[in-house]
Amino acid sequence: MKIGVLALQGDFREHIQAVKISGHAGLTVRRPEELAEIDALILPGGESTTIALLAQTFNLLKPIRERIAAGMPVYGSCAGMILLADRILDGAQDQATFGGIDMTVRRNAFGRQVDSFESDLTFDGAPLRAVFIRAPWVEQLGKDVQVLAEVQGSDGARHPVAVRQSALFATSFHPELTGDLRVHRYFFDQVCAGAIK
Ligand code: GLN
Repeated sequence: MKIGVLALQGDFREHIQAVKISGHAGLTVRRPEELAEIDALILPGGESTTIALLAQTFNLLKPIRERIAAGMPVYGSCAGMILLADRILDGAQDQATFGGIDMTVRRNAFGRQVDSFESDLTFDGAPLRAVFIRAPWVEQLGKDVQVLAEVQGSDGARHPVAVRQSALFATSFHPELTGDLRVHRYFFDQVCAGAIK
């Protein structure tokens, strides 16, 4: 498969690395012509406000929304999760998203004291060590959204940190930073395999 990684800002190089180690072609995407080449897209971690503004500047906002509507598989990690949310809380004024997942995501949800932390969680039924960096959580979700992992927030409640809605998949955490490729493989084998003919 040809997997594109949106390369406007953030840790796209680590995702390209994970794509290649998993045996797929990894292509950086900065232009609509490059988007047209790929089978599936990864939205990296970084700063969702900056990525959204750059996507507008690089004429990618509308084409990515159109590909999402047409069923292209997309995986968003951290800022990428925010970019896949239909609704965001604590966003910048007029912050745009690509949208597609029927969920409300809260930016920087875990609070200032715990800007970054690691947590052992269960992802798709197996234990996984996850790295969170100024991460969002899912605050509300629609009935078609499946929860694949949760962690306890500073408010004491458990919040979804990995979700899927058909061909769209998002995690609050950064699997590209741990060298454990199971989350990327889940995207390639479970999400893309069914969606790409
Ligand atoms: N807090 C960032 C944002 O709002 C996301 C952080 C990350 O991607 N590590 O976009």
